[in-house]
Amino acid sequence: MGLESALPVDGFLTTQLRHVINWSRRSSLWPMPFATACCGIELMATACSRYDLARFGAEVMRFSPRQADLLIVAGRIAVKMLPVLQRIYEQMPEPKWVISMGACASTGGVFDTYAVVQGCDQFIPVDVYVPGCPPRPEQLIEGVMAIQRHIDQEGLPPPGGKRVPLGLVLQPTHAVRPQPVGLTLPS
Ligand code: SF4
Repeated sequence: MGLESALPVDGFLTTQLRHVINWSRRSSLWPMPFATACCGIELMATACSRYDLARFGAEVMRFSPRQADLLIVAGRIAVKMLPVLQRIYEQMPEPKWVISMGACASTGGVFDTYAVVQGCDQFIPVDVYVPGCPPRPEQLIEGVMAIQRHIDQEGLPPPGGKRVPLGLVLQPTHAVRPQPVGLTLPS
């Protein structure tokens, strides 16, 4: 049964500790949701049965930054909220990653005002930008997978070194339907 049955008797596996650690980390990302607006609703939807973020091992939302390693910024950041966001980021242990979800978190979106931060990457490092207003749950999951691929391939952030944001940008996947949509009425 299972892995043991595929191995010869008294068999053993060899690998590198780095691979095991990375495999464990990429399979158990614990997100810290910083959801301030409508993007937060899509963030919640990723955990529902239809999208099932648990398939990627990232469904354990932590509301304590000390237990989280993936900060998901979802929604616009008011200037008054910025110190809170920075404090949460600082309190998260290394290694940690950041997803900027949606137009407001990445650029301020349509809120081009003095009261709204015009991109959270001006104040914290961002690893993956997820486009959309709001992004669909699939796109957020793609962002999580991008971080998983990075952990698999690149290893860990430099120990004790300066945090270098990955700055990955996901391509929008939504194809706009031709407008206006034809209307068929029952005869
Ligand atoms: S990007 Fe769009 S959906 Fe997301 S918080 Fe801004 S206005 Fe709301």
